[in-house]
Amino acid sequence: MTAYTSFWVGDARITKIPEIAIDTATSQQLFPNGDAQALEADAGHWGDGSYDPERRLLRQSIHAWLVETPEHTVLIDTATGNDKERPTAPLFHQLDEPFLERLQAIGFAPENVDLVLHTHLHADHVGWNTRLKNGQWVPTFPNARYVFSEREYAYNRALSSAREEIAPIRRQAGLGKPDHEPLPGVFADSVSPIVDAGQDQRIDIDDTGIEGFRFLSAPGHSIDHAAISYTSNGETALFWGDVMHHPLQFRHPEINSVYCEFPQAARDSRHKIIRHAADHQALVFTTHFGDTSVGKISMGDHGFDWTFAQGVES
Ligand SMILES: [Zn+2]
Repeated sequence: MTAYTSFWVGDARITKIPEIAIDTATSQQLFPNGDAQALEADAGHWGDGSYDPERRLLRQSIHAWLVETPEHTVLIDTATGNDKERPTAPLFHQLDEPFLERLQAIGFAPENVDLVLHTHLHADHVGWNTRLKNGQWVPTFPNARYVFSEREYAYNRALSSAREEIAPIRRQAGLGKPDHEPLPGVFADSVSPIVDAGQDQRIDIDDTGIEGFRFLSAPGHSIDHAAISYTSNGETALFWGDVMHHPLQFRHPEINSVYCEFPQAARDSRHKIIRHAADHQALVFTTHFGDTSVGKISMGDHGFDWTFAQGVES
């Protein structure tokens, strides 16, 4: 039986709903622009939960965060999803994972989730938005409001079906030229059906508040990527999405992952959000770190550093 780890932040209980563990990339593959030798030398610093020393591969995770507040049952990002056609991304292609069974194991049916908040709309963050029913993609959480960025939505819609709108949206975002475009197909099977069902709430990101949560602008990894904070009784949880992909970036904060779309903005946002987390002494909930995926920022010999937090078994 899977053990589930929870964390308390003020009046909220926060639990990781695991989807897939990843240990297929070397530090060079995840961070192709980094200094290969320096990365390799530092990779083991955060323990075996973040690095496999024998195979010299980074350990990462894809999961969702379930946040139980007194008012709401919230999912922050929805991992990769089952049955999705991702032929160019073998890790995400045609998955068959017991994600909803894991949610059920801690007492929640899809009907119980009433808010889904998105840091951004990449494949590994929106997958369980929908599931396949009689050949159609339908919302997995029938009673939820799905909250995400209007700009992120418009850009992905343009990439998928209105390419003439891409340039003006990029100009408005002002992040410079992207390195690459996000994975195709995601908008059609995981975002569009939510809008068709009328379950979307599209927002302007910067500092928008949604019932105890705040969206903090952190663009770069994607066009309108956000970190999401929850504050209660003076304590702050910060769900920082893909601001960082592995604790190794604390030693090398200038390096982007191979998945970051707008390189300079991604670097700027990383510095901004790390500082924000440190200033607010936030408990940080990552989407791709291995181990518990949760930790605190501290000041170490090399600048900001990361210490994993241990939750309680639930
Ligand atoms: Zn991601």
